Amino acid sequence: MQEELNFAEMRKRMVETQIIRRGISDKKVIDAFLKVPRERFVPENVKPFAYEDGPLSIGEGQTVSQPYMVALMTEALNPAYGVKTLEIGTGSGYQSAILAEIGAELYSVERKSALAERAEKVLKELGYNVRIKVGDGTLGWAEFAPYERIIVTAGGPEIPASLVAQMKEGGMMVMPVGDTFSQDLLLVRKSGGKMTKENLGGCQFVKLLGAEGWQV
Ligand code: SAH
Repeated sequence: MQEELNFAEMRKRMVETQIIRRGISDKKVIDAFLKVPRERFVPENVKPFAYEDGPLSIGEGQTVSQPYMVALMTEALNPAYGVKTLEIGTGSGYQSAILAEIGAELYSVERKSALAERAEKVLKELGYNVRIKVGDGTLGWAEFAPYERIIVTAGGPEIPASLVAQMKEGGMMVMPVGDTFSQDLLLVRKSGGKMTKENLGGCQFVKLLGAEGWQV
């Protein structure tokens, strides 16, 4: 019980100092961050650090992004209730929970089955309805396409053509694109059959591995 109370306090402080103070202003994003228990998405030994201002190890050599980066990507994506959204890289499931809390109709693809299984279990326990598939997300998830929003939470050398093909007209995608050490966070819009790109700044993500990402 005591521990629960501390996590709630840490969460509130994280939202104030790392999210709001750095310029995230979308109320639905802020409310989701106040609600989703980040500590539930990280391994036991990492829980005490769940609200620190950085990425955290989630096992399998992967990381969950720093809270601010998750917030920045979420705000840029402008998610909304009932909007069909595809996430590539389920990882811990934390980003999925933030999007599900906002009400997105979420489909998420993860290449590592151990991570997908753990994320699915935690999301279910918390009451979030997210459809998760194990596979190569660089190829998207054709069965439920087109998507109004796509979020890629691993860094790739270029925007996968399959994901562009599965974007709805008027849709948006956020994705880190660059080399394996650092990337630019791109906001991509598909409008009038044309793609426009906006650079939201530098970032560092784990590798997007797959047919239309880095070679496995
Ligand atoms: N959104 C996650 C971030 C996890 S890190 C979170 O909130 O925790 C990125 C994840 O992308 C890793 O779990 C990695 O295994 C996964 N990944 C890398 N390449 C992938 C691909 N081609 N398809 C699906 N998942 C991929």
